[in-house]
Amino acid sequence: MVTKSVSQEAKDIELATQMIHLGARLQVLQAETALSYDRLARLYREVRGCSPPKGMLPFSVDWFTTWLPNIHSTLFYSVYCYMDQLTPAHKVQALIEAYKLYLEQACAGRIEGAGEEPVLSFTRAWMLIRFFESGMLQLSACERCSGQFIAHAHDPAAGFVCAICKPPPRAGKTRSSKIVRASKAAKKDSVNENTPKQKAKKSTKKASSVAKGSAEAIVKPQDEDKNPV
Ligand SMILES: [Zn+2]
Repeated sequence: MVTKSVSQEAKDIELATQMIHLGARLQVLQAETALSYDRLARLYREVRGCSPPKGMLPFSVDWFTTWLPNIHSTLFYSVYCYMDQLTPAHKVQALIEAYKLYLEQACAGRIEGAGEEPVLSFTRAWMLIRFFESGMLQLSACERCSGQFIAHAHDPAAGFVCAICKPPPRAGKTRSSKIVRASKAAKKDSVNENTPKQKAKKSTKKASSVAKGSAEAIVKPQDEDKNPV
């Protein structure tokens, strides 16, 4: 009978806990630790207060080459490579550190309370590294900005233009980005209202007051009382 090392088990539990906090699925935990399925499921319930989600992992390689996921995944992967190659954090530790940094960057500029999930989930980030390791993805240099972006393996490198230099026509026109735009317009209006030029801006204020009211109600209900009458 194989005797299990207690200290190794403690390390695995610590590692699994960190990954559960970041949103890892059970399959990822099983691959990265030596803990049994039952113990991991119990740990998951203790940490998150609910049962782990069932079903298969997202295994689409194509997802990483669609425009917005491509930008997010490229950002994450660049940080991961830096962590793995140039810091003491390697493999799964590099993944955890890189994902934390990615979350910080992905949340920057996002409106508080918008409740939006990050584009790249922890499980997808883990899959991304597997895809690179198995040679299904590569980094291609954009011929306009010379940045390295994720692309399908063996795609021709010549003539590659990244998703930032050439975004699709509908880029950024999602429901959540509409809320962000509306709230930005509302904030701009409230600044205008507080200036001495209030009278001159009156017509603009009237026109946008309906949009402003609804946007602020969705995004920042606590700011309602700040609106000058
Ligand atoms: Zn580019």
